[in-house]
Order: sequence, then structure tokens, then C-alpha cells
Amino acid sequence: MDLTETEDEKSFRAEARQWLQANVPATPLPSFDTAEGFELHRQWEGLLFEAGWSAVSWPVEYGGRGADYLKWLIFEEEYWRSGAPGRVSQNGIFLLGPTIIEVGTEAQKARYLPAMASSREIWAQAWSEPDAGSDLASIRSKGRLSDDGTEWILDGQKTWASRAAWADWCFGIFRTDPESIRHRGLTFILIPLDTPGITVRPIAQLDGDAGFAEIFFDDVHVPVANTLGEPGKGWNVAMAAAGFERGVSLRSPARFNVAVDRLIELWKQVGDLDDDTMRDAVTDLWMQAEGYKLHTAMTVTKLLEGGHIGSESSLNKIFWSEMDVRAHELALQLLGPGAERTDGPYESWVDGFLFSLSGPIYAGTNEIQRNIIADRVLNLPRA
Ligand SMILES: Cc1cc2nc3c(=O)[nH]c(=O)nc-3n(C[C@H](O)[C@H](O)[C@H](O)COP(=O)(O)OP(=O)(O)OC[C@H]3O[C@@H](n4cnc5c(N)ncnc54)[C@H](O)[C@@H]3O)c2cc1C
Repeated sequence: MDLTETEDEKSFRAEARQWLQANVPATPLPSFDTAEGFELHRQWEGLLFEAGWSAVSWPVEYGGRGADYLKWLIFEEEYWRSGAPGRVSQNGIFLLGPTIIEVGTEAQKARYLPAMASSREIWAQAWSEPDAGSDLASIRSKGRLSDDGTEWILDGQKTWASRAAWADWCFGIFRTDPESIRHRGLTFILIPLDTPGITVRPIAQLDGDAGFAEIFFDDVHVPVANTLGEPGKGWNVAMAAAGFERGVSLRSPARFNVAVDRLIELWKQVGDLDDDTMRDAVTDLWMQAEGYKLHTAMTVTKLLEGGHIGSESSLNKIFWSEMDVRAHELALQLLGPGAERTDGPYESWVDGFLFSLSGPIYAGTNEIQRNIIADRVLNLPRA
């Protein structure tokens, strides 16, 4: 792994930096967990797409830039350093999109990917159910074929679907073989959220914004052509998507490098620089962020050499989510009673802290990731 940038990579970085400097909104957009913020983020995504920066690592014919993963990492560094808005389209571009590229038909790639890249269609993930979160294989939402075999008829309830309050489509897994149990007999289906029979009920998150929604399916008809992968093999498709979610694409290192740089600035502004304990804690965080960056470069090198990321993506997920919580805890410690102020150096740390608490839960809880590591990475015997 040689981390020296080639001339081509240097000019790619310069181009990205220049575009971002010229186009990133001067004032932060309202949260994309509000109706107004969601649409403003959609417009921003449209601007990114027009300039070819929306789905940097996708093939050009599907709305991407055709860049390799190393360039994508460079773009991510420039993106987060520029203070650009969070990606409202992340479920599509970083999770479902790569899965469609891997297992979708040519017709599905042509139908879904360009609309996803431009954020004309924004996607929500409809997997969790009230009694099936960690144990996803126990989902009860059902699908059955119509008499003429052309449609799935869906019934059931999903919950915690991020951004579903305003999204256009969702991707879900449904039990389509009533005789099946656990991971078998599930089908991965793509569903427009305005289909008759769907009710979307927003759920307010800790900060009061409707960050999630419940989705109710009541006799919902969708074409069988909306099946991703083989009917009955939806678990494999979902696990491929989960690998993208826990692996490199959802949380690239730059986001944490930027957060830790902000933490260091905060420490310089409000911290007691003679306090060795805090100095060590901040330094440790900086090393963790650098370590994650180098580890990701190693993973990307493996991917570029034709390798795959398997269960080891669970290691990533634990590492970045715990690092994020730690960074925000230290920031609040530094801010002390000022932590709830929203001006100057205080801005946004509390919001960031509240969101960081969800990192060890979403994309599969860290307890479950530890089980996966014990079982499939370390091959430890089951209890
Ligand atoms: C911010 C956020 C965004 C989310 N977005 C989405 C989304 O877009 N789409 C979607 O489908 N879902 C989403 N989720 C839901 C998320 O995937 C689930 O919350 C998660 O999988 C845990 O499921 P659960 O909430 O049902 O908790 P449970 O499964 O009930 O778990 C409760 C606790 O028990 C522990 N536990 C459970 N089983 C085991 C075990 N076998 N071994 C050890 N510990 C165990 C868990 O780790 C957890 O601490 C989101 C969640 C959050 C917080």
C-alpha cells in the first residue's frame, strides 16, 4: 500500500476542492430531518450530481464519476473538510446503489441508479420491525404473489426507517414463503412510498425532529419486477447491503478526522493546556482517527486488488461508532456547563453528541457486531 498521491490523484483533489469551495452553501442547511431541510438537501444533492460529484465511485453510465475507491476517499476528505451538508441520499448512494450494481439486472441498474444519483428519488431502508431489530431474521412482514404472478402483495409493519418521512422509495425484506423460517424464504423488494396501502408515520427522535418513520403496509401491490436478487434469497441481498453499510462507504474516515480536528481546536480554545489527562485523551482520539484512516486505505487497497470485505466490516463499525461517541464526550467535558450553548465554539457539539449515541445501535448494534466477530472472524466456539 503506497499512500503517495499520483499526479492524477493530486489534480482530482484540487478539482474537488475548487468545486466545493465555490459551491458549498455559506450557511449550514436546516436538518434533513425536517421537511424544509430535506428538500434543501435534495437540491444540494442535485447540484453535486450535475457536477459529477454525487456518486463518485459509481460507473459513469449510471450517474457516477467512474473514480476508484482511493479517489473516492480523497473526495470524502475534501467533502467533509469543506463543511458541506450531510448526505440525505446516503441510503441510496452508499447502501442500496452498490447492492444494485452488484446483484441488480441491467434493467434495474438503468431504472434506479441515475434517479438515485441525482436524488430525484431518495430512498429509505425498511428492514427493522417492532419485534425484529437485532434478530432481523424474525421479521413478520409478508409478501404473496398475486393470482397472475405479476405482483407482490405486501402486508406488515416496519419501523425506525431513517428519512422515510420524506423519502420517495424504500427497500425492504418480506417473508414471501409462508412455510419458511429464519433467513430462508425472504425477498428483497423495492417499493415506491406513494403506493396505495402504505402509511408512513413519522417518529420524533431525541432532538424532536422526525428522523425516522414507521411504515405500514396494508395490501400493497408492487410489480414482481421490483424484486432485487432472487425471490426467497433476500437475506443474501440484505447482507450484501449491510456489508456496504458497516464497511467503508457509509462512514468514511474523513468525517472523523474533521471531527477530531474540531475537537483539538476546541481544546486549544477552552481547555486547560496543562491538564495532561485531557491532552492524552485528545491525542488518543487523534491517533484513533488516523488509525481508522490507514485501516480504510488498507481495506480499499484490498478491494482494488479484487478482494471482498466480509464479516470484518463489523470491526469497522464498532471502531468508528465508539470513536465518535468518545470524541463527543470529550467535547462536552471540555465545554462543561457551556455545552448547551449554540454560539461560537459551542455550536453543534450537543447535537453531534446526541447523534453519536445512536452509532452503536444503527447498522446493527455493536453487541451484535461483537457476536459476528467472535463467530466469523475469530471462529470462537459458540457458548
Ligand atoms: C439512528 C438510527 C437509525 C436507524 N435507521 C434505520 C433504518 O433506516 N432502517 C431500519 O430498518 N432500521 C433502522 N434503525 C434500527 C436499527 O437497525 C435497530 O435499532 C437495531 O438493529 C437494534 O434493533 P432493536 O432496536 O430492535 O433492538 P433489540 O434488537 O431489541 O436489542 C436491544 C438490546 O439487546 C441487545 N441484543 C439483542 N440481541 C442480542 C444478542 N444476540 N447478543 C447480545 N446482545 C443482544 C442489543 O445489542 C441491544 O442493546 C435505526 C436505528 C437508529 C438508532
